[in-house]
Amino acid sequence: MLILMHPQATLRQTGEILTLAETLNLRPYLSRAQGRRVIALTIEDEPLTARLKGMSGVEEVRPLGSGIKLTSRQFRSSNSVVVVGGDHRTRRVSIGSQSMVVIAGPCAVEDRGSLLAAAHAVRDAGADMLRGGAFKPRTSPYQFQGLGVKGLELLAEARQATGLPFVTEVLSVDDLPAVAEYADMLQVGARNMQNFALLRAVGESGRPVLLKRGMMSTVDEMLMSAEYILATGNESVVLCERGIRTFENSTRNTLDIAAVPVVQRRSHLPIIVDPSHAAGQRDLVEPLALAAVAVGAHGLLIEAHPDPDSALTDAAQTVSTALIADMVRHIRTVHRSLSPLEADPHTDCNGFVAPNIGSRSLDFGCNGKDSDR
Ligand code: PEP
Ligand code: MN
Repeated sequence: MLILMHPQATLRQTGEILTLAETLNLRPYLSRAQGRRVIALTIEDEPLTARLKGMSGVEEVRPLGSGIKLTSRQFRSSNSVVVVGGDHRTRRVSIGSQSMVVIAGPCAVEDRGSLLAAAHAVRDAGADMLRGGAFKPRTSPYQFQGLGVKGLELLAEARQATGLPFVTEVLSVDDLPAVAEYADMLQVGARNMQNFALLRAVGESGRPVLLKRGMMSTVDEMLMSAEYILATGNESVVLCERGIRTFENSTRNTLDIAAVPVVQRRSHLPIIVDPSHAAGQRDLVEPLALAAVAVGAHGLLIEAHPDPDSALTDAAQTVSTALIADMVRHIRTVHRSLSPLEADPHTDCNGFVAPNIGSRSLDFGCNGKDSDR
């Protein structure tokens, strides 16, 4: 259920709702919608609804339905912005704001030389973040599986050398402690989108998560997977459309470009597009990337390598780092030409969850401030 506080409700009145939830062993999730504080409880209960309606400061109690709750626009009307990096080692990247975030790098970390060359090239080209898989999901057990922890160490070295935060895939709950120790952002790949144990574990790690759409999953299923992560109290989730399996076989996957505005209608979470895994061919990466910019994606995930033909994984769809500067320039030109000049007043920071009701803060907005945006 969604408890909408009156616009003039006091913090004390809001606190009384949180205390009631605490005594009932329910976890309250805090947000703002339509200029008011809102509190979500992930149950529907008629007697409790009636009780809440009688409490001071409560304007309305609405059912949240059986679908997504914390991921929905009903829970938060403004766009969430997920922050990656920004510590002493890296630049701060905001995904979900007005800027177009470009994440680029090799499919897999292969060796020190090629990773550092890729990292420098993508940074100099104007990319915001580095990508690279250390643990690789491969169709055949005989194919290159990634360098594992050695790959994570190389990614950390590339971060140190360039200042770019990196995203890398975590394949299993077992690998999570190692990956979370190094990575600025955890990628849950298409094949793991409905690995619910992994979703819970990455949520509990507290790290920002890049959740890729399963290749045979609907938008609703992707949003429900995001809900698993948000329900742990971790709201730093970025969705990624990377193409789905259809009867069409002239591309590796069919880029479901409509998923971008469909997600944006239903959810406050940022969504980026991976044109590389959709295309499967490097000459299609730029046109699909530009289409993603035009349709309103918050960012792009692009595979790039200094010598793409020699790449150990996904060579056919990997673009040369020699060409990435031009590609980023085209991406930014299209983005600028379509962006409104004014900053979007509906863009908001995240920070909605009382992670622990015992030490709760009434933080509904940015930077711990109870702002009225
Ligand atoms: C990847 O990003 O390299 C990858 C394996 O992606 P996906 O899970 O979308 O196939
Ligand atoms: Mn790949």
